[in-house]
Amino acid sequence: SDLTALILDRIRDVPDYPKPGVVFKDITPLLADHAVFCAVVDALADGFEADKIVGIEARGFILAAPVAYQEGAGFVPVRKKGKLPAAVLEESYDLEYGSATIEVHDDAFSPGDRVLIVDDVLATGGTAAAAVELVRRTGAEVVGVSVLMELAFLKGRERLTGVETRSLLIV
Ligand code: 5GP
Repeated sequence: SDLTALILDRIRDVPDYPKPGVVFKDITPLLADHAVFCAVVDALADGFEADKIVGIEARGFILAAPVAYQEGAGFVPVRKKGKLPAAVLEESYDLEYGSATIEVHDDAFSPGDRVLIVDDVLATGGTAAAAVELVRRTGAEVVGVSVLMELAFLKGRERLTGVETRSLLIV
C-alpha cells in the first residue's frame, strides 16, 4: 500500500549497530515526518478495541502513547527490569546471549481490560511474547500486538500464535 512505501522510505538501515553484523532499523526519520508518523499511529490502532495500550521500552513508548491518546485508551509502560517504581510482575526471556527481563506494575490493569501491545520492531518475538505473558498474568485480555515493522526472517510471529499480530511493514 501507499503507507507501506512511505514507511519503507523513512526507515534507515544502520550497519553494525549495536554490534558488528547487525543491521539496525532506525525509525527516527519516520518519527520526524509528521504526516507519516500520524498515518502510522492511526494504522497501528485501526479496528482494535482496547482500554489500555501497552508500550514496550523504549521505542514502543514513542508509538504507544499517541495511539492511546488517539484511541481514548490509557497508556501502560512495560519496562526493563528495575525501572518501574512500584510493585511489579516480571517476565524473563532468552536472548541470543543471556536473557532479558521486562516488568509491568502489578496494578496497571483493571479486571477485564482489553490490552493492545505496541512496539516498533518485531524481531525474534521474544520481547512481544513476554509482554503478552505479562499482561495475561495480571488477568487482563490481550486483543493484539501491533508493530511498525516485522523482520520476517527471524520468525517472531511464530512465538505469537493465537494473538492477532499486525505489522505495518514486513521485510
Ligand atoms: P525481539 O525480542 O523481537 O527479538 O526484538 C524486538 C525488540 O528489540 C523491540 O523492542 C525492538 O525495539 C528492538 N529491536 C530489535 N531489533 C531492532 C531494530 O533493528 N531496530 C529497532 N528500531 N528496534 C529493534
